[in-house]
Amino acid sequence: MPYLVREHLFIGNISDAAEVLQNGSTEITHILSVLSTASISFFTEWRSSLMIPSKEIKKVYVGRSGGICSGHDDGGDGSRSSLSPEKLLYSLEYAGKDLKLVRMAVPIRDMESENLLDYLDVCLDFIDRSRKEGSVLVHCFAGVSRSAAIITAYLMRTERLSSEDALESLRQSYEFVCPNDGFLEQLKMFEEMGFKVDHASPIYKRFRLKVLGDSYNRGERIDTSKFGADPGLPAEASSGVVTTPNEGDNCTPAYRCKKCRRVVALQEHVVDHIPGEGETAFEWHKRRSGSRFNKPDESECSSIFVEPLRWMTAVEEGALEGKLSCAHCDARLGYFNWSGIQCSCGSWITPAFQLHKSRLDISTI
Ligand SMILES: [Zn+2]
Ligand SMILES: [Zn+2]
Repeated sequence: MPYLVREHLFIGNISDAAEVLQNGSTEITHILSVLSTASISFFTEWRSSLMIPSKEIKKVYVGRSGGICSGHDDGGDGSRSSLSPEKLLYSLEYAGKDLKLVRMAVPIRDMESENLLDYLDVCLDFIDRSRKEGSVLVHCFAGVSRSAAIITAYLMRTERLSSEDALESLRQSYEFVCPNDGFLEQLKMFEEMGFKVDHASPIYKRFRLKVLGDSYNRGERIDTSKFGADPGLPAEASSGVVTTPNEGDNCTPAYRCKKCRRVVALQEHVVDHIPGEGETAFEWHKRRSGSRFNKPDESECSSIFVEPLRWMTAVEEGALEGKLSCAHCDARLGYFNWSGIQCSCGSWITPAFQLHKSRLDISTI
């Protein structure tokens, strides 16, 4: 039986969801499935006697730039994949008895290294909408980690609770709450970012870099779709529309190759660190707000550190470390190392994609 957490909000495991999908429910109208795959066939694979009808509403993918790039289904013939590798953010469908339920499915594995943050906004918005239209069941496989993490984030956002308080509050209605350690860290970041996922925040940027570093360390192939767009090229929006990067936003600092003036990074690609401080991604925010430290003085650092960008072809080849050279004139701009590099100020950045300030010109575009 699903447990009631708040009015019109339930939590449960896969059995609870299967029961609602198969037999309908007098109360539940929406289901948020958080399983390792989004397909409804997950239920049949879990229990072969189950046959749950479904009718697709839409699928939404994350494009190369990390932005949401498709809000509609275009036939599902898979032709979109010819453009670039895209990751399914969620699928939305009518499902269950008489197709009466609305099911949103997000593919998230219950692993510490899994990126939960990138799914939070869409999940929490779905819960919000569903509660206005009826009642929603949030479920994962065991009903312990993934669904609990998402509901915790939801309570944090709607009731302005710290992650600890939200967890405790959820535990009062449902004792099995136990998000994995990686999710707990991400809930903390969600709190520090002000109950939203702020892509411009140093907390988020460091997290993204850590996720990438973890995936490199696990020996996964370097997938350049996760790299930042090359600011020296016209941006390729996934819609096929070509625009120049950040035109109109004329205060964006740009870093150019000193030799040939090609733009090699924008301020948004820079992953800030506190000069002189050790690298501890998750305590960054706390340290910064501590009074003992002055405002970061970038002049102390002889380099900037950026997220990996698509012109960094040396990174794509999979080496642990190597030179970063200008894509246009081949001038040496810096160095990368997945195990980290120490900045001249003493801070360790891991993984590190370092550009020497002496090789760059800073201007605005
Ligand atoms: Zn530094
Ligand atoms: Zn150059």
